Amino acid sequence: MAQSGDGSTVLIAVGDELLSGHTQDTNSHRLAGLLYAAGYPVRRIEVVADQPAAIIGAVRRAIGEAGVSRVVVSGGIGPTPDDRTFAAVAEALERPLEENEVALQHITALLRRMFEAGWVVSPEMSEANRRAALVPQGALALPNRRGMSPPIALDLGGDQWLFVLPGIPREFDAIVEEELIPRFFSGRTAPWVREIAYTSVPEAEMYAPMRTLEAEFPDVLVGSYPQTERRRLVIRLRGADEARVEAAAARLRELKPEP
Ligand code: ATP
Ligand code: MG
Repeated sequence: MAQSGDGSTVLIAVGDELLSGHTQDTNSHRLAGLLYAAGYPVRRIEVVADQPAAIIGAVRRAIGEAGVSRVVVSGGIGPTPDDRTFAAVAEALERPLEENEVALQHITALLRRMFEAGWVVSPEMSEANRRAALVPQGALALPNRRGMSPPIALDLGGDQWLFVLPGIPREFDAIVEEELIPRFFSGRTAPWVREIAYTSVPEAEMYAPMRTLEAEFPDVLVGSYPQTERRRLVIRLRGADEARVEAAAARLRELKPEP
């Protein structure tokens, strides 16, 4: 059985266009920030091609990894032949595909509204539309108020969940904010974060103070983030315990006073 872990999450972004550099993976960037704030830190972001083998491999790696409690796959769930994510996820989970009633109703209702608005010539469901409602067995279809492709949630047991979301950013964002975070990413708290910004300090001067912090505060993560164009150096300290992070920040100011 999967372990419930510490809320660790793996993101899998599917799309040839992400790998070729035609499109930037902004979905993962935004989701990582929201999940960090929700207390479900992203452990890894994997970008894979629209190829079944690549998607299957990434999904199996993620769900098989100890401590991973959430996996979010995005992209490739539309009605075109290059959308292969649902079939690949079904194969990775060794579940058959099944027509999802809720997804089908959503697509039917949307087609009717599109027909009434004069955007499509017929309200009939095409083969392509029907294909979008074929999802891995046991999936819970979630609402998609901004589009046709149904996002899904799959309960893998042991507090491990896998989600498949559309890649289109405006759909992805609405589903994340309205459905995913409130329903499936709640009950945890974000780590405490403190930043200290130095001006015109060469990064190498941080070596010794950071080594000292590592030794004295093993429970606080310390990262150095130079912003060379602004001649600023941001030192970011993070940890579960606010008092410990603040104590580490105070120690850093002592070791390396801000100029
Ligand atoms: P559709 O129903 O349109 O087929 P989909 O879920 O299958 O939606 P894709 O076909 O993979 O999504 O992508 C739709 C659009 O969203 C494309 O323009 C794509 O480049 C963009 N997109 C996909 N993934 C991402 C991402 N991770 N970050 C930003 N944009 C993305
Ligand atoms: Mg795609």
